[in-house]
Amino acid sequence: MQTPAPVDYARAHSVEQALDLLDQHDGEARLIAGGHSLIPMMRLRIAQPECVIDINDLTELDYIRVTGDHLSIGALTRHKTVLASPVIGEHYAILHDAERVIADPIVRNRGTVGGSLCQADPAEDLSAVLAALRAEAVIRSRTGSRVVPVRELDDGPYQTVLEDAEILTEVRIPIRPGAGSAYEKVERRTGDWAVAAVGAYLVLDGGVVSDVGIALAALGVEHGCATEAEDYLRGREITDQTLAEAGRLAAAASRPSPDQRGPVVYKRHLADELTRRALRRAADRAQGRI
Ligand SMILES: Cc1cc2nc3c(=O)[nH]c(=O)nc-3n(C[C@H](O)[C@H](O)[C@H](O)COP(=O)(O)OP(=O)(O)OC[C@H]3O[C@@H](n4cnc5c(N)ncnc54)[C@H](O)[C@@H]3O)c2cc1C
Repeated sequence: MQTPAPVDYARAHSVEQALDLLDQHDGEARLIAGGHSLIPMMRLRIAQPECVIDINDLTELDYIRVTGDHLSIGALTRHKTVLASPVIGEHYAILHDAERVIADPIVRNRGTVGGSLCQADPAEDLSAVLAALRAEAVIRSRTGSRVVPVRELDDGPYQTVLEDAEILTEVRIPIRPGAGSAYEKVERRTGDWAVAAVGAYLVLDGGVVSDVGIALAALGVEHGCATEAEDYLRGREITDQTLAEAGRLAAAASRPSPDQRGPVVYKRHLADELTRRALRRAADRAQGRI
């Protein structure tokens, strides 16, 4: 790996200051949170910002809190904090499923929720989880804030809809009674990026699916969601037959690339199998069976 090109460094002490610094650099600066994605990209010279703006002092963005009918996670919250949070475990088992298989403790100690979403890696586990949960991203600029569904946050691989002078500050996830969620990932070895992964979120009302989210990681799906499978399941019960059809629809929507992690046929098979498993486990959790 190379060394990065020369780069200026600034440390922000508030969100306002970080926004001012971004504005001053007119698209030539990048925020740095955990640095686990940005620094490798700088060393490979895929990213060559004039300045990196360190946001690690923005402790105001490091929180997990329940407000009314949703849970908020600050953008600077580390993977390890999400994994250790009992509040998260109580409401969204899927987040703990995913955090257990994201990289290793070294990455989880520094990597952040905001950095993970803004990196927009098509194999990113948290992006899939938060898309399945229909979370919203709160984005701030010097002129105000806007809210974007996480499903619409990416604008293609490694690109987001954030403008140059915007910061992701928070993700908000709805809390719904009767909900259950699960994440299933196949990796080549512990801590590796996904060969394929599926996140499922179900809200059951008298055994019938009233809402559902199914998101796929590393499977080449636009915005990462299996919307045909979601539409099919809404209003139906979870049975072997409906699970089989949802798995088939998710696999049919997948457009994986063949690479060192496996051929297309294998990845499509995983899309089918992991969708059924994630939905089954989400349903069991919604019904308090596990
Ligand atoms: C060895 C290794 C293995 C990994 N394995 C996995 C894995 O299995 N699964 C997985 O999902 N991830 C994995 N990752 C990625 C890891 O989760 C990273 O922490 C994450 O991708 C980026 O988070 P970060 O806080 O380090 O972001 P950074 O590297 O600091 O930033 C990433 C990008 O986001 C931007 N950014 C950061 N914060 C904000 C913000 N608040 N607002 C706007 N833009 C922002 C930065 O400018 C940069 O462009 C792995 C990383 C490594 C190094």
